[in-house]
Amino acid sequence: MNSDNFIEDIIVSDLETNKITTVITRFPPEPNGYLHIGHAKSISINFGIKEKFSGKCNLRFDDTNPVKEDLEYVDSIKEDIRWLGYTWDQELYASDYFDKTYAAAITLIKKGLAYVCDLSAEEIRETRGTLTEPGKESPYRNRSIDTNLELFINMKEGAYPDGSKVLRAKIDMSSPNINMRDPVIYRILRATHHRTGDDWLIYPMYDFAHPIGDAIEHVTHSICTLEFENHRPLYDWVTENCGFDKPYPQQIEFARLNMKNTVMSKRYLKKLVDDGFVTGWDDPRMPTLSGMRERGYPALAIREFCSRIGVAKANSEVDSDLLEFCVREHLNKHADRVMAIEKPLKVIIENIAPDQYFDFYVDNNPNSPSLNKHDVRLRREIYIDDSDFSLCPPPKYHRLFEGGMVRLKGAYVLKHLKTIMTNDNTKIDHLVCEYLPDTAPGESNSSIKVKGVIQWVSVFDALDIVLHKYESLLTDPKGGITNFNERLNANSLEVILNAKAEPFALTGGSDCGFQFMRMGYYKLDPNSGDSLIFRRIVSLKDKFNTKM
Ligand code: ATP
Ligand code: MG
Repeated sequence: MNSDNFIEDIIVSDLETNKITTVITRFPPEPNGYLHIGHAKSISINFGIKEKFSGKCNLRFDDTNPVKEDLEYVDSIKEDIRWLGYTWDQELYASDYFDKTYAAAITLIKKGLAYVCDLSAEEIRETRGTLTEPGKESPYRNRSIDTNLELFINMKEGAYPDGSKVLRAKIDMSSPNINMRDPVIYRILRATHHRTGDDWLIYPMYDFAHPIGDAIEHVTHSICTLEFENHRPLYDWVTENCGFDKPYPQQIEFARLNMKNTVMSKRYLKKLVDDGFVTGWDDPRMPTLSGMRERGYPALAIREFCSRIGVAKANSEVDSDLLEFCVREHLNKHADRVMAIEKPLKVIIENIAPDQYFDFYVDNNPNSPSLNKHDVRLRREIYIDDSDFSLCPPPKYHRLFEGGMVRLKGAYVLKHLKTIMTNDNTKIDHLVCEYLPDTAPGESNSSIKVKGVIQWVSVFDALDIVLHKYESLLTDPKGGITNFNERLNANSLEVILNAKAEPFALTGGSDCGFQFMRMGYYKLDPNSGDSLIFRRIVSLKDKFNTKM
């Protein structure tokens, strides 16, 4: 085999040898939080296989832990998968199988392969042994089948308090694999489940429910992350001993996605939400799919990212610059260009009369085959960006300086005449300039040599906008800081008031947002009302490429 995707190699071989006829995968989120970029990788693997091999992929909610699960999470997970552009074959829940899972437990008990144990959680932990020492057998291990049946049925009927008894698989307390040392497969828990309500007082453990769900759905390849590699013998033990038909589902592990400066654990993401450090799971700074959607990351860019990182068998850390690179690459092709000004500096163009104007037509997107254009109007008063004028220009400064010239994007060459200071003489109030006639693109003097081109917006037409720029929520542990709260980046949101944009930023364009020329990619926050908040999706700077 020669592909760089070892999972697909296994599937190709299973199809060729007729071990299976149709490949069936599943994506099994626990509805205890919103999906994050790590889940996107798992989604793209599972649904990607369905698409590539004309197979099936189910969405199976792993809802075996009623305490943490919620319908809000179920709905958000479905929305996020749809947004990525994938469709599942069946929407299923581990709780759909609570009856069958219970029946499987009874099967095990009847085969002498499971027993009710009265040890406390702590005692079970203490007798489990270590990597170098075998575990100790429970004093309840040799209860008779009849006793076990009776006790387990009583557990289900509510005869015992929470935590007082568990059902354990009877495997091997001296197995070198700790997961095989009589793992707990059912526990007593009085908690209202978001789907089954108060029907059940006992709940199966993940390691028991998961292979059963897979076997019931005839999943052929059960793809999970590397932490479950040591659980595979237990996975196989369950499918083989609970009376399911062959071929048994095959568990395959891959390396989970880890990213620099990014926390990818629902527990910590939930903490950020609960502590009010972010506005919600869909805060544009969150590494959740809903946050990325709010921020303006295109779904296709996320899919491209997942395909570029590929499928590996060894854990590693992916640079978040690669994700930004994919976002930028997509937007560069699809986002319309707009002129905006982050820090306005007023310029009066002396040789344009107050009621005079010139219309110029600039490309919406020079990379788009349609080559649509829109109108920008040059008037006597314009804004340029404060950073595009310098009183003491450093060497090789190509923008505007005293007595210098610069091209206004899509329009005339502008020549500096005077700098007018504020009354107290502390800062520049405005500039006085003139335009050079016939120097617009395509006109007789357009070949005049000026090195710099800057964006501009006419004062009369300008939209007042607010910019939100984002940095990562977390900083990587430095100087030994591992405390989560100390890693929080207090400067993850920068708000820039009083920015300006040409009217096309509101009326025009592509769904995916705009390239504010020379500034970055931005998208209007649809809920920002009159204040017109534009969120920066990604900067223009390509940190990823420069490293290559
Ligand atoms: P978390 O630690 O964030 O709670 P989880 O693994 O408990 O993650 P689940 O909802 O159980 O979250 O995950 C659903 C599927 O997504 C699982 O198959 C899991 O292996 C996969 N998954 C979760 N995180 C990642 C990741 N960082 N990279 C790749 N796959 C992941
Ligand atoms: Mg999980």
